Amino acid sequence: MDADVIVIGAGLAGLQCARRLQRSGLHVRVIEAQDSVGGRVRTERIDGHLCDRGFQVLNPAYPAVRAWIDRDALGLQAFGVGVRVRTPAGLRTLAHPGRHPGLIPQSLRSGLLDAVELSALVRWLGPTLVRASVSSRATRDTTLAASLDAAGVRGPLRRDVLDTFLAGVLADSSGGGSANYVRLLLRSFALGAPGLPREGMQALPEQMARDLREPVRTAVRAHELREHAGGVTVTTDHGPISARCAVAAVAAPDLERLLDVPAPPSHGLTTWWFSAPEAPADDAFLRLDASHPRGGPDGPVWNTAVVSRAAPTYAPHGRHLVEATTLLDHPGGQAPEREVRAHLERIYGASTRRWEVLAHHVVPHTLPAQPPPLVDRSPQRISARLFMCGDHRDTASIQGALVSGDRAARAIGGLLRP
Ligand SMILES: Cc1cc2nc3c(=O)[nH]c(=O)nc-3n(C[C@H](O)[C@H](O)[C@H](O)COP(=O)(O)OP(=O)(O)OC[C@H]3O[C@@H](n4cnc5c(N)ncnc54)[C@H](O)[C@@H]3O)c2cc1C
Repeated sequence: MDADVIVIGAGLAGLQCARRLQRSGLHVRVIEAQDSVGGRVRTERIDGHLCDRGFQVLNPAYPAVRAWIDRDALGLQAFGVGVRVRTPAGLRTLAHPGRHPGLIPQSLRSGLLDAVELSALVRWLGPTLVRASVSSRATRDTTLAASLDAAGVRGPLRRDVLDTFLAGVLADSSGGGSANYVRLLLRSFALGAPGLPREGMQALPEQMARDLREPVRTAVRAHELREHAGGVTVTTDHGPISARCAVAAVAAPDLERLLDVPAPPSHGLTTWWFSAPEAPADDAFLRLDASHPRGGPDGPVWNTAVVSRAAPTYAPHGRHLVEATTLLDHPGGQAPEREVRAHLERIYGASTRRWEVLAHHVVPHTLPAQPPPLVDRSPQRISARLFMCGDHRDTASIQGALVSGDRAARAIGGLLRP
């Protein structure tokens, strides 16, 4: 045997799985098809800028991040907890009152807060703010759109903020995702200030990989897994590897290719990264556009931010980094650069003529769909010695990937312990 357990895939789920297995005294080998660890959490350095492969943020309030990640070592640089929204009446600010008390008057004057809608939202979200879980038994789950409609959340807050913000977070503008999942997400936004590590998002999986005694073997792809008496053999492009158990810690579409396990549908997004000589805004808030007559953005961009305002390490001295996100499930998802620029000029009220495109990341599989009812503990055992983990087995998030990896390791630990 080459190892007790072979883990296929060095994304967050695979790395957490390997760390937990190693802690139980097992010999773990991790192989990764790409040339570095991280999976969907990777960072490119371009002309001194840090461009994550698709704009994403780390929420330090995720329970798995609090439990298993050294947040101090990452040096998180926080975004403002709130949004700036372009409405037909002008730019409006809505900020977390506890974190930005100085912005309470602006939030109250924004025209986005209607007393009836706000109390409906508090009733809708309240129990989740108190408990860290949403049991499908206790709270019947439906789609986000149907649930907010039924709760009476139907005013400017919904139309101009929630629908647009959540579409960017879920990579899904249909409102068809699980309402209970969104309750959990909003809970973590209420409790934490999402941010970006000093060295880019990839610093997170790199921190995890450093814990492993046997370094991750990168640029090694698994092609086939075969179970036999007493073990598993994984065929890779560098020869076979044998182990007592194997874990496929790959994303849902890869799982289907590798093991013929049906994968949930995916939602995708694209991120445009621009380098600007001057910042088009002086705040660290996400910007949304809600100026379309029926609500939502009047162009292809669902959210944008001057990332270097929140995370100064993301741009070199004298430059600023701006992200713009489009959704692949929406007609504007593949909009050409000129349309994206024109929309950004309307959002910021500033010219983009001197902005340079650093990268355009198109990520068709950003997140697995999370339809109702929320099932956040899907089975992970495929056969006697074969397991799977990843965000498609838990919630579609960093939190879900970490929990899923940990759960698979605990199950295998129980199986292999003498
Ligand atoms: C653009 C974008 C924005 C996001 N925003 C957020 C956010 O703000 N907050 C949040 O919580 N989550 C966000 N997410 C989701 C989060 O990044 C993922 O849920 C999480 O990283 C998934 O981790 P994973 O380990 O399950 O899968 P993956 O990261 O996909 O890891 C799977 C690994 O398996 C490897 N692999 C696949 N096939 C093979 C093979 N045959 N052999 C060897 N290796 C293989 C892959 O190369 C990959 O490294 C975002 C994701 C993207 C892409």
